[in-house]
Amino acid sequence: MTKILKINNIEKYYGSKGKSNITKALDNVSLEVNKGEFVGIMGASGSGKTTLLNCISTIDKVSAGNIIINDKDINQINDKDIAKFRRENLGFIFQDFNLLDTLTIEENIALALTINRTDVGDVDDRVKKIAKELGIFEILKKFPYEISGGQKQRCACARALINNPKLILADEPTGALDSKSAKMLLETIRKMNEDLDATILVVTHDPFSASYSKRILFFQDGKIFNELNRGAKTRQQFYHEIIDVLSLVGGDADANEIS
Ligand code: ADP
Ligand code: MG
Repeated sequence: MTKILKINNIEKYYGSKGKSNITKALDNVSLEVNKGEFVGIMGASGSGKTTLLNCISTIDKVSAGNIIINDKDINQINDKDIAKFRRENLGFIFQDFNLLDTLTIEENIALALTINRTDVGDVDDRVKKIAKELGIFEILKKFPYEISGGQKQRCACARALINNPKLILADEPTGALDSKSAKMLLETIRKMNEDLDATILVVTHDPFSASYSKRILFFQDGKIFNELNRGAKTRQQFYHEIIDVLSLVGGDADANEIS
């Protein structure tokens, strides 16, 4: 099995060592993600989820340990190559979708490829192919203000996919959405994983969102304390299993929410 991501004993401190106000945000974390996996990272607020994602995203640097993406130790990449590495290997689904208002949907999706200087004909072909797969082919010539929220989401997902990234990352992607929109976005992410074989890592404190993934790592105080595999279970069964784990640790799950 191809390992897309290998994290070996990482630690992340905020504040300077030796001072009293030091925070240990990640405490000896190791994990691996194989190609084609859909992994959820759960944990209460402050448990280190965003810190982990920022370190994998090359936005932040670990204090110890290493992170290997696609066989490359990201600590070893120098600052001038880091943006290129990110563009070529990682896809991001942002909470606010980050679409540029002055560009058409087609241009928004193609943006990363344009930066990577892909051949114009190839850009066109890839955008059309992914737009068809995600059901937004008809709206490619429109501007963001002319399309629905659900279409904007799919556009943001198409943009995350366009570079054929090794790994797609999302931090609380449904955090700002109502439950119907959240469900639509999660369905799109599921499709990206199952139909398009994208490897996905999603951070969320929400059990409903987490129930879409196939494996969940639970964080507490910067450490992994539990892991669940969906296996052959339905999403609903998995959801209830997640709720059970969270109730053990007093996570901020709300079992009365949609399931
Ligand atoms: P989560 O995303 O799970 O809510 P975070 O990764 O944001 O958690 O935070 C983990 C811990 O690190 C928290 O105690 C938080 O206060 C601390 N922390 C996060 N970012 C910073 C920062 N830039 N400076 C100082 N402390 C931080
Ligand atoms: Mg966070």
